[in-house]
Amino acid sequence: MSNPTIAIVGSGPIGSTYARLLVERVANAHVVMFEAGPQLTEVPGESVRNIPDPAEKARAREMSQGPQAGAHRESLGIPAGTVTEGMFTARQGTHLLDFGGTGSAHASSFPAAAAATNVGGQGAHWTCATPSPAFSEKIPFIGDGEWDGLIEDAKQLLHVHSAAFADAKVGEAIRSLLDEEFGAELPEGYGVGTLPVAGDPQPDGSVRWAGADVVLGPLIDKENPLSKRFELRDLTLVRRVELDGHRVTGVTVQDLRTGETSFVAADLVVVAADAFRSPQLLWASGVRPKALGHYLTEHPVVISTVALDAEKMGRYATEEDLKAELARRALNPADPVAAVNRIPFSEPEHPFSVQVMYSETTPFPMEPGTPNSQNRWGYVNMGYGMRKHPRYEDAVTFNDNEPDYRGFPNMTIEYSLTERENVEIAQATERLRRAGKALGAFVAEPRLMPNGSSLHYQGTMRMGETDDGTSVADPWSRVWGYDNLVVGGNALIPTATAMNPTLMSVAIAVRGARKAAEELAS
Ligand code: FAD
Repeated sequence: MSNPTIAIVGSGPIGSTYARLLVERVANAHVVMFEAGPQLTEVPGESVRNIPDPAEKARAREMSQGPQAGAHRESLGIPAGTVTEGMFTARQGTHLLDFGGTGSAHASSFPAAAAATNVGGQGAHWTCATPSPAFSEKIPFIGDGEWDGLIEDAKQLLHVHSAAFADAKVGEAIRSLLDEEFGAELPEGYGVGTLPVAGDPQPDGSVRWAGADVVLGPLIDKENPLSKRFELRDLTLVRRVELDGHRVTGVTVQDLRTGETSFVAADLVVVAADAFRSPQLLWASGVRPKALGHYLTEHPVVISTVALDAEKMGRYATEEDLKAELARRALNPADPVAAVNRIPFSEPEHPFSVQVMYSETTPFPMEPGTPNSQNRWGYVNMGYGMRKHPRYEDAVTFNDNEPDYRGFPNMTIEYSLTERENVEIAQATERLRRAGKALGAFVAEPRLMPNGSSLHYQGTMRMGETDDGTSVADPWSRVWGYDNLVVGGNALIPTATAMNPTLMSVAIAVRGARKAAEELAS
């Protein structure tokens, strides 16, 4: 096909993976990326964690919060009168789907479900933890050799480093204490280690965190000829994917600055608009496979905060090491994360993914005078992720007769944890107690977060090996029955996983983009 046009819905890491690979691989292709939210930073899609000025950072986060964007709301095309009463606070930069006002989703069984609406998507706000899926977390119908290659490509796109902060002695001491407690129970190669993160270590010891910007790479470098074939339209909402039978003809978009609607013809449409809004857009466009919106999973999360014990830490690190760490932290006070450790998922020994983030301060204010409120050795925030086994009945469904605040068929989320999950949650909670005791004293006891808290929503457009009604997309991410409609994001993950999913979803997108490029080129 000569000079094909590709429309991409959503500018997060997944839409950006498609943009990058399709521009690079299809000569003369023109890629237009539509993003409902605003561009926050001069470099499109950059992580807001890199913004040094706290006021500017807070503004960027608020601008990403769609109906919860306060004074910015109307400039983002959110209808006047969209009220957000009765909500509890979402993570900064995100907005709750069930915000309690006009046009709010209904999600009482998944109350913490949230999204980000901005250039870079959630990828402008993420923690950048990028573990690889292992054992049964992987896609069963992609061979190991190919899969390993896809993961390596995804790591390069996201600038993943396995050893960020690895030289920090405080981090090393935390690993040693955890290893004392758990090492003997963990299989070879899956013990306590550093957590791979997406970002570029800087000479001063800090990290420049990765967002969609690094994935887009040459496409947003004005000096690079590839950038001439890439166009990013922010504040542009895709209202429908237009069809002619089983072929997509393009997208109908609304410019949220002017309210004007127009049609953009496309030879290929990629929908990467998150695990709730992608299936919603397909549904609104009349693409309604049986599995659409169903098999929703996320990994339940149990978290706690622990004050590091001076005597225990002192067995592996000196006062000098602590001083060196504090001096390094002082160089970058805007970013409180330092050493990042983990215990990965392994089967059957350890079906959990554990994240241990070192920080000088607690993530919540502590009254002066309360025990451990001024802990010299600092704190760790620890989270255990567990599996949720996919079931048809855990689902987001859409109501054609009830418009949401943007005029789309409104969402209802039905979700519950079963005995199978509750057993693993209890086991993980017990281990979290052991980890806390090994490191120091709890300042926040282990607790299960409300459903939706992980921000890692999966399964609602799952990929499958055959079109048997239990999947939405084929093994190359094409919606079953449509040659030129591709979907992307965590929603494609069909397995029960305990870890952060973005690296895995980028790997799946690399596979889909290569196939789409081959077909466009042929
Ligand atoms: P998104 O990044 O959500 O982007 C989708 C985009 O589509 C959004 O910008 C949205 O505005 C846009 N959109 C939606 N509908 C439309 C429409 N109709 N028209 C136009 N645009 C539309 N993952 C990890 O793996 N590790 C982590 O450590 C981690 N930490 C996180 C911490 C936080 C605070 C958050 C918020 C997320 C975190 N995540 C993490 C999740 C990670 O950010 C997501 O997995 C990733 O961003 C998903 O990428 P995506 O491109 O599929 O979707």
